[in-house]
Amino acid sequence: MLEYEDALGRVLVAMPALKPERIPLAAAHRRILAERIVAPMNLPPFDNSSMDGYAVRAKDTTGAAVGSPRPLRLCGRAAAGETSPVTVEEGCCVRVFTGSPLPPGADAVVMQEDTRIDPAQPGIVLFTDSAKPWENVRFAGEDVKRGVIACEPGQELGAGRLNLLAALGMTHLNVGTKPFTGLLASGSELTEGGQPLAPGGIYESNRAGLAALIAEAGGIARAFPLVRDTLGETRQALATAFADCDVVVTSGGVSVGEADYIKSAFTDLGGKVEFWKVAIRPGRPFVFGEWNGKFLFGLPGNPVSAFVTFLLLVRPALRRWQGAVETGLPRQTGILSEAVSNPGDRRHFIRVRMDAAGAVRSAGGQDSHMLGSLASANGLVDVPPETTLAGGSQVQVLRWE
Ligand code: AMP
Ligand code: MG
Repeated sequence: MLEYEDALGRVLVAMPALKPERIPLAAAHRRILAERIVAPMNLPPFDNSSMDGYAVRAKDTTGAAVGSPRPLRLCGRAAAGETSPVTVEEGCCVRVFTGSPLPPGADAVVMQEDTRIDPAQPGIVLFTDSAKPWENVRFAGEDVKRGVIACEPGQELGAGRLNLLAALGMTHLNVGTKPFTGLLASGSELTEGGQPLAPGGIYESNRAGLAALIAEAGGIARAFPLVRDTLGETRQALATAFADCDVVVTSGGVSVGEADYIKSAFTDLGGKVEFWKVAIRPGRPFVFGEWNGKFLFGLPGNPVSAFVTFLLLVRPALRRWQGAVETGLPRQTGILSEAVSNPGDRRHFIRVRMDAAGAVRSAGGQDSHMLGSLASANGLVDVPPETTLAGGSQVQVLRWE
């Protein structure tokens, strides 16, 4: 685990949970469930056929074979959504379809392919195979029993869970509220896209990547105007963002330079810095603080440092805030296609590209300003200080896509 994980872990626990909200199931994809769901009914709700065919009493088909078909009288029909109008008596069968309720008296279904009808005798079905008792019958409650726990609070609502909950008749769910996340970018060199670049200027890019990661983590990103490197402007920008948002994420201005005003502006406003600097690469400067029950995550300005520290330090907080049990990035085991080394004295989260077969290679240049490799990366490999991981070795890849 990360050196700072412990400190951050304690801080996260102290975060006040946002009050859950009740929303339509149809809008709940990827939200975090805030209630325990006890199955209010059985699934399937009733015994039913798993085949298109004929419901029978299994013993009436004993000895049936292609060479010696067994005839049974066709006494009724039950489509899916209909109950059989008749009971299956000895010597008779009922036409059923996938999902038709099992007609009373029947204890098996013979699939259509194992039957034939002589056009001269349409009221008789010829069975060319015998049925075992309960063959092709799906039992009430065999999938989910009424009263069992179907979903627990803290689980993320993926497509499969939503499908199950819809089958149980749920229409609305209590879910964790999305944290309203203010996004500030500080640096006098930063220019809005669409504006001409002055000498020494660069286009501001961190808010674009971070807004996407915030949305992916379940937050609602609200980007604020660019902040120039003055104490006054930084203080004003932080005050505005804190007034409107549950949490504020900044980038830039948290290093040791003279123009790095985030920390001082924040403490001027009465904020309390909980910790500053983390021993990882990319991303040494990073400030975490609390202001009136709200939180500041001050990320480094270098684009990849901001991106990676968000994934490792901010994303878990946003997820926990919504009540998620799993807050870490998904991990996948892969095999390095080539050696990767970290000659430095800080653990290095190396940008990698993992393919569908699990082969992992460096995504390219690893300096913290290099966006070319970030664009093609889809994971990070945590390489300890002064370590080379040989090609062919198995690694855990932290995935964000
Ligand atoms: P700082 O952390 O403010 O010292 O910034 C470190 C480096 O990241 C500098 O080269 C900045 O120009 C660059 N940088 C800071 N913020 C941004 C941003 N929002 N978009 C793109 N580059 C940035
Ligand atoms: Mg700066």
